[in-house]
Parts: sequence; structure tokens; C-alpha cells
Amino acid sequence: MAKEAANVSDTPSRSVTGGRETTNSFDAVIIGAGFAGLYMLHRLRGLGFSARVYEAGAGIGGTWYWNRYPGARCDVESLEYSYSFSKELEQEWQWTERYATQPEILRYLSHVAERFDLKPDIQLQTRVTAATFDEAADCWTIQTDRGDRVSAQFCVMATGCLSAAKIPDYKGRDSFHGETYHTGHWPHEGVDFTGQKVAVIGTGSSGIQSIPIIATQASHLFVFQRTPNFSVPANNAPLSPGAKQDWQVNSAVYRQQARTVPFGMLFEQSEKSALEVTPDERQREYERRWQLGGVCLLGSFTDLIVNKEANDTATEFVHSKIRGIVRDPAVAEKLLPRSHPIATKRLCVDTDYYATFNRDNVTLVDVLATPIEEITPTGLRTTDAEYTVDSIVFATGFDAMTGALCNIDIRGRDGVTLKQKWAEGPRTYLGIMVAGFPNLFTITGPGSPSVLSNMAVSIEQHVDWIAHCLEYLRQHQEAAIEATVDAENAWVEHVNEVGNATLFPLANSWYMGANIPGKPRVFMPYIGGVGVYRQKCEEVAAKGYQGFALSSSAVAS
Ligand code: FAD
Ligand code: NAP
Repeated sequence: MAKEAANVSDTPSRSVTGGRETTNSFDAVIIGAGFAGLYMLHRLRGLGFSARVYEAGAGIGGTWYWNRYPGARCDVESLEYSYSFSKELEQEWQWTERYATQPEILRYLSHVAERFDLKPDIQLQTRVTAATFDEAADCWTIQTDRGDRVSAQFCVMATGCLSAAKIPDYKGRDSFHGETYHTGHWPHEGVDFTGQKVAVIGTGSSGIQSIPIIATQASHLFVFQRTPNFSVPANNAPLSPGAKQDWQVNSAVYRQQARTVPFGMLFEQSEKSALEVTPDERQREYERRWQLGGVCLLGSFTDLIVNKEANDTATEFVHSKIRGIVRDPAVAEKLLPRSHPIATKRLCVDTDYYATFNRDNVTLVDVLATPIEEITPTGLRTTDAEYTVDSIVFATGFDAMTGALCNIDIRGRDGVTLKQKWAEGPRTYLGIMVAGFPNLFTITGPGSPSVLSNMAVSIEQHVDWIAHCLEYLRQHQEAAIEATVDAENAWVEHVNEVGNATLFPLANSWYMGANIPGKPRVFMPYIGGVGVYRQKCEEVAAKGYQGFALSSSAVAS
């Protein structure tokens, strides 16, 4: 139909298949049309490469297309959680709140797609099912669930770190007669829970954002919590004219700072240890940052993620806050995170989360003590009780970082699949490429700062690096680039070494793959810091792509 036609590329060499125009060959195929895929397309087109984006969703936006649950917002400040590549875009777009809502971020990404005329090269409602490397021709053959079969010299995975939603395999999962929802696949028309009994399973960022809002609608809300999580107040508010003006004037400086600091975010980072100051001073600092709101609490001291004793001081502070907010001491105790150091699971940012447990219509169910045994036609049964509900919300997260990649049948040299290669955990060089998989790039892949950073910053850095790389290959008439096994081994070792020097491995987090039964326990992101990492990537490129093997075409180009 018209929508479909609008999504077909307007590039020169094309054929017509079954009424749908298709080109068969591109310089690059990009999989995913979120923050990463959109910018990758823009960059490659700007360099004169032909590119096609395939996106499974019916619209662009990635995370912000799929996650429409009540309360969904960014937890990195809107001004920072945006593209920096276009001064004009930055000047014309006005964020309204400190932390933008999902609809506002989706509007922003739609504006970007319109402004840079990206849509003609994006094919929606098309899931890539397979990508196979053709060793003779140094190119990839990409297949989709709609019958497309195209070839591309380069294949760029912009499939997202948090796009493969996961519902636990509960006994009786499909027997429930009411409605079920996953936060990462929320209905576009929204859901009105007014008058309903609702179960929310999961208290990660998605649960913590949605629970306070669902509680205001539901007649009764049961929150099924396995691991209590740390959450800090967002202190969200409309952006003041002064803040907007300051950003407009100084954004170049701020953006440059964001590229060099450890998390790609501009919160103030103290240079003191939590253990070198007096308890009063420590308390004042934590309190100041709690009032400021957002993840800046993590910048209170230098050693919070490397020293358990230092970390304990922040943990105690948040515990005291929870005890102060939640009136029922027994409920407050259940909400105290004790099983992992603060920040070793993603620190959540909320609006009224803990206070929600003061409501008469909210019950906290501790499913660590009394696990969920099964989903029944009328609700859920734990080892302790039966809960009758009208709707179940799964806020149970994602098969993070590797899920979306391994869901595609990706075959590199000798027919080896990425899934096989990563059977004991992901292995990459710089989180960008994988030995044995030439010309395949992974934007924010495992082994890069990705989810431990402001993703907008990390995505732009990867996209720019990949764009420069392709330009370099073209200039030097090289047909293929591939990470060497030695460079990959050294990088994996470095990623592990840096990760093991922190407290992160102590948590059963999705960073560690611990949320997916059977997934290897490996700390997947790189915690060396956004600035340090960027420098390494730039050095590698400056040395003619050190650690990569470059080769000219096996066939005439
Ligand atoms: P995505 O936005 O996930 O896009 C990937 C796209 O690829 C998806 O649309 C998916 O449908 C598509 N895709 C996957 N596989 C296939 C396939 N086989 N075929 C075709 N298409 C495919 N990060 C921050 O830095 N700050 C935040 O505040 C923040 N908030 C978040 C809130 C939520 C609710 C979630 C889930 C994540 C949040 N993140 C945040 C992380 C967020 O995922 C990134 O910031 C960013 O949006 C990722 O962009 P992306 O383009 O890499 O991936
Ligand atoms: P998540 O952090 O993985 O949380 C999933 C929750 O479901 C956890 O509480 C988990 O408990 C629980 N759970 C999973 N399986 C369960 C089971 N079988 N039984 C009981 N409970 C179970 O997922 P998420 O909340 O969707 O967030 C994922 C990431 O997306 C975040 O960490 C963040 O990076 C991003 N995000 C950001 C925002 C934002 O504020 N901007 C909002 C949403 C998401 P356990 O902890 O015990 O495993």
C-alpha cells in the first residue's frame, strides 16, 4: 500500500518483485531504526553509500516506539539524551521537561527522520531473520520475514541492547483469561486500568516507572517483587527558559564534556573517596544529590562502584530514605535492597515510587520469599497465596545486549553462527566487530560502554567510527575489514579485567546475563569509561585500524 511504497528506497538499480519495488544490492544494510539505525543511515547516505534499513516495528524509534507503558521516560536528562551531530537540529528542537516522556522522545525521533528525509530508505514491519557472509564476494546476504533477500557489502546491527523483551516461562503462562502486557511491547492505544485488579511483576526501571501511575488507576495493585531495587527521585520538572537558553548557548562545550566523562552524562563527579570524609559530610553530599534528583548520586564519591565499604555508605543512605518514605516498617524492610551493592544493577530513577506503597490499594508481594509457582486462569499463585487479578503486567525486562543479535541467524566465516561463537559469552573487539564476521558492525555491542553510559553519546560515537571506517576502506580500496582473533582476545581480557575490578560482578543483573536462565555469566558492557574508550577507538583508527585485518576484494570491484 501507500505506506509500504513510501518505505522503499529510491536508489537507481532496482527490480520489481510481486508488486513491491526492491533493490537487491546495497553498500550497507542497517538493522533497526532506533537512535542508532537512524543516525547510521544519515551518516552513510551523507558519504554517498547506498543503504537500506530494516525495522521490525511498524514505526521508527526503537526503544521509544515499543516502550509505551505509563510513566516511560528517559533517565538521562533530555537535553543530553539527544543527538549532537546537527547544530540546526539542536537549535530547533525544544525539550519541555528535564526527563522527557516516551511520546516526546518518539516525536523527536520522528522529527529527525522527517528532517533528514530518512524514511524512504527504511522498510518497516520487516524483521531480519538471517544474515550470511559470502566469503567469495566479501558481502552479506540478508533475509527478512517478508521474503526480501538482498546483498550488502556491510551489515550494521543497530538492533538495540534492550529490544528483545522477555517474559519468564511460568507454568500456565498462557492460561490466564485476563489481559497480559509486557512493558516493552505496550499497546499503542494505551491501557486504562481503572477499576481493575492488576499484577505488576518486576521492579526494575520499567516497573518502578509504571507502578506509581498504574496504582492511581487500579482498584488494587499487587506488586510482585523478586529483588528490591535502588531508586532515586527524578525531581522531574518543566525545563526553565534559563536552562534551555544556557543549553542553546553552551551546548558545544557540554557535548564535548559528555564525550570525555566516564558515563557520558554531565552530572558533577566528586574527586573524593566516600571514606575520606566525615559521616556528616558524606550525609550532606548524599542529601544534596538526592534533592537534585537523578543518577547524580553516583557521582557523590569516586569509589562507590569499586569499594564495597564506600558503596555501603550510599546503600545505607538510600535505606534510610526508604524507611523515611514508607510508613509501614514491614513493607519498608521488604523494599530495602540488600542483595547487591548500589549501582551494580541499573540505578532506577522514579517519581513517587516508594511513596506508592503508602497507598491502601497497593500490596507488595515478596516473591523471593514466596516465589510465583504458576499463572492461573484467574491470576497468579505463589507458594503462599493465590491472587485474582484482571490484568498482568510483565515488567520483566530483556534478553539484554546479545538477545536481539542472537535472535538473527548470523553466519560468518565457515558457516559459524554468532550464537555458536558466543555460546560462552559475547566476544568482540571494541564491542564493534567480531572475529570471523567480516564487515559486520555492532552498534553499542557487548564490550563497549553502551548501557553503562548515556546511550545517545555512545551511539553517536560508534556510528561516527563506523562511518569513518567505511570511508577509509573505500579510499584505500579495501573490500573487507575483520577483527583479528588476537585483538579480540586481548579486548575481552581487558573488558573482564576492568569489570572484575569493580563491584558489578557481585550482582545478579542483566549486565551479567543473570536474568536469562542458562545465559553465561559474563559482565557484558565495558566499564572503562566513555572518554577512555573513545580515545582507544580513535587510536585504533589512527593506526590504520590496528587489530583489524583489511583485505582487498576477492572479486573484481
Ligand atoms: P533500539 O532503540 O532498541 O532500536 C533497535 C531496533 O531494532 C528496534 O526498533 C527493533 O525493533 C529493531 N530490531 C531488532 N532486531 C531486529 C530484526 N531482527 N529485524 C529488524 N529490526 C530489528 N538509555 C539512555 O541512555 N538513557 C535513557 O534514559 C534510557 N531510557 C530507556 C528506557 C527504556 C524503557 C528502555 C527499554 C531503554 C532505555 N535506554 C536508555 C536504553 C535505550 O535502549 C537506548 O538509549 C537507545 O534508545 C537504543 O537505541 P538503539 O537504536 O541502539 O536500539
Ligand atoms: P529489568 O531491569 O531487567 O527488571 C526486570 C524485573 O523483573 C526485575 O525486578 C526482575 O527481578 C524481575 N523479574 C524477571 N524475571 C522474573 C521472574 N521470573 N520472577 C519474578 N521477577 C522477575 O528490566 P526493565 O525494568 O525493563 O529495565 C531494563 C533496562 O532498560 C533498565 O535497566 C534500563 O537500562 C532501561 N530502562 C530505563 C528506563 C528509564 O528510566 N529511562 C526505564 C525502563 C528501562 P530480578 O531483579 O530478581 O531479576
